[in-house]
Amino acid sequence: MPTKRDYYEVLGVQRNASSDELRKAYRQLALKFHPDRNQNDPTAEAKFKEVNEAYSVLSDDQKRARYDQFGHAGLEGGGGGGDPGDIFSHFQDLFSEFFGGSSQGGRGRGPQRRGADVRVQERLSLRDAVLGCKREVTVRAPAPCETCDGSGAAKGTSRRACVLCGGAGQVSTARGFVMFTQTCPRCRGQGTIIETPCERCKGSGEQERTRKVTVTFPAGIDGGQRLRVSGQGMPGPANTPPGDLYVDVELEPDPQYERDQSDLITRLPVSYAQASLGARVPLQLLDGSTLDIEVPAGSQPGEVLTFKNKGVPRVDGRGRGALHAVVQVQIPKKLSAKARQLLQQLEEELGDAGPPAKRAAP
Ligand SMILES: [Zn+2]
Ligand SMILES: [Zn+2]
Repeated sequence: MPTKRDYYEVLGVQRNASSDELRKAYRQLALKFHPDRNQNDPTAEAKFKEVNEAYSVLSDDQKRARYDQFGHAGLEGGGGGGDPGDIFSHFQDLFSEFFGGSSQGGRGRGPQRRGADVRVQERLSLRDAVLGCKREVTVRAPAPCETCDGSGAAKGTSRRACVLCGGAGQVSTARGFVMFTQTCPRCRGQGTIIETPCERCKGSGEQERTRKVTVTFPAGIDGGQRLRVSGQGMPGPANTPPGDLYVDVELEPDPQYERDQSDLITRLPVSYAQASLGARVPLQLLDGSTLDIEVPAGSQPGEVLTFKNKGVPRVDGRGRGALHAVVQVQIPKKLSAKARQLLQQLEEELGDAGPPAKRAAP
């Protein structure tokens, strides 16, 4: 057995320390070494236990007297430091004012109880995603049963107090001098039980029902992104908050525009003459307005004309992306006799400036 440190030394107090001095020293050290605040220090828990053991002995007048007289040997067989399981309940009693918890119901370190989260998927058109929109999203979630008003008991009957816990929902058992409190296994903490369950909900008190939640999709949201609507998930167990609703966004493909993050890409059909001479070509934007695009003379097929700040708004508010219009020269498939004649004249006029295609000699 390793040598135990002196309890007064552990708490850093004089041998004649008053109970107030002990309590104060213990408080400081226990807070300092509490495992919750020292998750990266593996030695903290051992120190925390040591501090607790020292305090549990020195705060007990009888044990302290024995310790003063005989040292650690005086406590052997007498359960010196107490049950290790005692440490936290002991600690919690003393510090409940700090942690705001009650000393009932164990250590109280588990996750906060609340309703479950709900996940749904919503398909948006590119236009709705770019401009932002409001949508009613259908959520399936349990609601109180209409037949039994949520009690779970059949008509004409009611819930009865649980005999095991007497309606408290918790049962306490003593182990040594420590009381352990746990959720009543018979009524599962509800305090009451159902003798004749409601036929409709089989005693659960709940029915699945669909409800509509209005969700605001911010301008610029993209496919693959997830929105959280807090408090719109499942209702929590009695007196706890509901869970959250998560909406996964999916984008419908758009016939005219493609999206690349905050940029938009579209094709800009122009005629051969427009591309050659330059022109002003109207392009319909996603919001329905029209952007007049200056196509410079001599634009080549596939050339990209870029317009800053005409793309998708960034969700974080940092402006908008760009719009890229790809020049697409339309070649007529059918020609009138006159058009054919004019094109031939044009070809002759352009001569060497035309494409370097070899022509058969006339
Ligand atoms: Zn019970
Ligand atoms: Zn029911």
